[in-house]
Amino acid sequence: MAEKLVQHRHCQMCLKATPLGEEFCNDDCKEKWNQLIKANKKKNLMVMVWMVIVVIFAVLILSFV
Ligand SMILES: [Zn+2]
Repeated sequence: MAEKLVQHRHCQMCLKATPLGEEFCNDDCKEKWNQLIKANKKKNLMVMVWMVIVVIFAVLILSFV
């Protein structure tokens, strides 16, 4: 029984059980996952850019006060 539990993984996208060694149940999920990762990376980059802008503004404002 314990062996059976070890012998499968779950699709990272839809969490369905997938064969051993497979991270996704099909190519659709793989594609969706990759798009999600890409979107997340872009989002993180935007957040970082905004943080830098806010810090620069904060420093500018503080230096004028
Ligand atoms: Zn899936």
